[in-house]
Amino acid sequence: MSNNGSVFDAMLQEFGIAAKLIGLEPGIWKTLTHPKRQVIVSCPILMDDGHVEVFTGFRVQYNIALGPAKGGIRYHPGVTLDEVKALSAWMTWKCALAGVPFGGGKGGIICDPTTMSKRELESLTRRYISEIVDMIGPDKDVPAPDVNTNEQTMAWIMDTYSMHVGVSTTAVVTGKPIIMGGSLGRREATGRGVMITVREAAKHLGLDLKKCTVAVQGFGNVGSVSADLIQKEGGKIVAVTDWKGGVQNAKGLDVTKLIAWTVEHKTVAGFPGGEPLDPSKIFEMDVDIFVPAALENQITMETAPKIKAKIVAEGANGPTTPDAHQSLHARGVFVIPDILANSGGVTTSYFEWVQDRHGYFWEEAEVNQRLEKKMMEAFDNTLQTSLKYKTDMRTAAYIVAITRVAEVTKLRGMYA
Ligand code: GLU
Repeated sequence: MSNNGSVFDAMLQEFGIAAKLIGLEPGIWKTLTHPKRQVIVSCPILMDDGHVEVFTGFRVQYNIALGPAKGGIRYHPGVTLDEVKALSAWMTWKCALAGVPFGGGKGGIICDPTTMSKRELESLTRRYISEIVDMIGPDKDVPAPDVNTNEQTMAWIMDTYSMHVGVSTTAVVTGKPIIMGGSLGRREATGRGVMITVREAAKHLGLDLKKCTVAVQGFGNVGSVSADLIQKEGGKIVAVTDWKGGVQNAKGLDVTKLIAWTVEHKTVAGFPGGEPLDPSKIFEMDVDIFVPAALENQITMETAPKIKAKIVAEGANGPTTPDAHQSLHARGVFVIPDILANSGGVTTSYFEWVQDRHGYFWEEAEVNQRLEKKMMEAFDNTLQTSLKYKTDMRTAAYIVAITRVAEVTKLRGMYA
């Protein structure tokens, strides 16, 4: 059951296992395994040195049965249509599982933002949004941050769209700066959701989080906030890696200081509060909890056997290949699947969209309280489904999601 590197194939395999268990009818099966719309655009940009570069961007709207397409936009040299397709499908299942009225979408641009100036990134963002401006909107498709995009990127998106339609439209994008219609708690929401699912998984397995050690792969928004909040719940963060390097400390890393270090140095490498750690060693750390919070295809048949953790909480989307997932499950590792573990981000994006549309903004405590409730419901639903079907948490999460999307697809009926 290898996916040969295709993340969309990996998604299809995961989907197929769940669809088979619930006896999904063939017509719905076919419908739900095809993206609704895939767009590829070319974005010519005048670079700072005067030459013109053409960047390729994608936006995929996978499914809009439950509501407008929803999902982030990532900037990375490795972006492919296959990857964006898979990510848009995962957004569809994630929103359905989270119980928010959105379909799934995703976007990406092939670029290396680490080598680009702020002006170049702004031009690229604006040109990309201009190219897809007809397909997005508060009722059509609502982008958000993802790998290497942030609040500033969302501000440019909101402005570009608003200039095109002639109306300031905050609800076209989520993950915005607070001052321009963003939601309190949104930036931390994905990591907060990871923490909540880790806490609940530990409870379910009878583990005391205060005695648990944790390793985190990736220290962007998701990895760093997860580490911070898990530490605040009593977990001990002993190892963190990113694309440039890593750091370990058996006595526990000071996450607050590590975050301050990465703000300045753009990497955890060189952090004085621990020993250097080769990023490839993160899988074999002797820890109770492992949080992959980087990119896809990290836990493979090569790295999975090295994992000693009892809980794997997928902060990233698609970090585990289907065959590696089966091997972890067979060894009794409790995997909290991506579409559950990292769903706090899109759940709070939904809160942001609701607040923008009402023009009335909630206090942070209310946002966090509502997120807690939604995450608990999603975790509980998934756990009960996994017990009912005697299956793993990933398959259970897909069962809940597919059942919801399938039911609405049937109710809406076939157009034309
Ligand atoms: N990029 C995030 C994800 O993968 C958030 C998406 C959103 O808020 O729309 O879930």
